[in-house]
Amino acid sequence: MSIDFRPTWMNEELDLFRDNIARFLDNEVAPQDEAARKQGHVGHAIWRRAGELGLLCIDVPEQFGGGGGDFRHEALFDDQMARRGLTGMATSVHSIVAQYFVHHGTPEQQRMYLPKLASGELVGAIAMTEPGGGSDLQSIRTRAERRGDAYIINGAKTFITNGYLAGLVLLVTKTDTTQGARGISILIVETNNCAGYKVGRVLDKMGMKSQDTAELFFDEVTVPASAVLGGVEGQGFFQLMSDLPYERAIIGVTAAAAIEGALEMTLAYTRERNAFGKPLFDFQNTRFKLAEIAAIAKATRAFVDRCVEDQVAGKLDTVTASMIKMWATEQQGKVMDECVQLFGGYGYMNDYPIARMFADARVQRIYGGTNEIMREVIARGL
Ligand SMILES: Cc1cc2nc3c(=O)[nH]c(=O)nc-3n(C[C@H](O)[C@H](O)[C@H](O)COP(=O)(O)OP(=O)(O)OC[C@H]3O[C@@H](n4cnc5c(N)ncnc54)[C@H](O)[C@@H]3O)c2cc1C
Repeated sequence: MSIDFRPTWMNEELDLFRDNIARFLDNEVAPQDEAARKQGHVGHAIWRRAGELGLLCIDVPEQFGGGGGDFRHEALFDDQMARRGLTGMATSVHSIVAQYFVHHGTPEQQRMYLPKLASGELVGAIAMTEPGGGSDLQSIRTRAERRGDAYIINGAKTFITNGYLAGLVLLVTKTDTTQGARGISILIVETNNCAGYKVGRVLDKMGMKSQDTAELFFDEVTVPASAVLGGVEGQGFFQLMSDLPYERAIIGVTAAAAIEGALEMTLAYTRERNAFGKPLFDFQNTRFKLAEIAAIAKATRAFVDRCVEDQVAGKLDTVTASMIKMWATEQQGKVMDECVQLFGGYGYMNDYPIARMFADARVQRIYGGTNEIMREVIARGL
């Protein structure tokens, strides 16, 4: 393909880093993907291996065991996974957890947890959504009650990415039920040997089969008072809001990469497969569809690149981040649908990455704040 989709923010150092990621994904992650899809998670060993190779928490300062890079390094990992149709390691969530420690953790919390997240010893999850609702965060019911020097936690969370493998859960709780946003605190829960903590089902999803998504239950779980992220109660909602652009930009990055990956796969397939005595690519309909997809890919790339650059510069605002999340994921949905069509019946077979990428794309419009909530946020900025 002669069209240039190289991100504006790439450089030689990032090229080498991307090649390292690609080697790891092609040689170590992809061969295990089918087994991971069957069991619904990738297991702990691959997380530790990624840590060993310096591929986790790449944008965390070196003093905490991280890679000392920036958002571009982290974005590259998610980009490389998405364009291959690999979803098993939710490094995006893991990195977001690390960012909460970088931005809001006390020095002691940073020292205690960041090195373990960077090495893959602990897999991180963030648990906001409850069976009763996800969009309306302020009405969560998981309660953390202060008793002496501890908090006693009761409640349930669902749809939690990395939930099954997580050794560290950032748990969004109500510490004061009389308050709205100011009653919310994030508690750090170490799950190993944690009395009263239970992982429920690893949920059976439409797509992203190798990524674990689980229910979590808390029954009189006790954590020390020092487990409040940042050490001050009532800051949870504001901590969550301040890191939203990071998460939304990452979702945009994965959407752009998946679009480019699907375009490449579909170009290769339609050039190779014949119908009526000529390659599918030679039919005008195929060429026109692929031309439209290429234009969408280019536009998405331009918008995503701008957001990545802004995020690196610390100036990506919530409204723009919500735009990229909403817009790029909707382009991704359309493109996957068109590509499946161009693959014909094979596009519907799970043996083909394009079928899996179609199913994987659907959730991009739901998690990380639904695209309806994104529209609300954008509209408020008008
Ligand atoms: C695979 C997967 C992974 C996930 N990972 C995580 C995770 O790691 N951590 C976590 O905490 N959560 C996670 N989630 C949960 C996800 O963030 C929620 O599903 C999402 O926020 C929507 O919440 P809900 O499912 O309760 O839907 P609801 O909030 O019940 O919404 C249902 C529908 O109503 C619409 N709606 C709601 N409010 C409004 C409104 N004000 N205006 C217009 N429309 C509205 C929504 O857009 C949606 O279409 C994950 C979900 C999935 C499927």
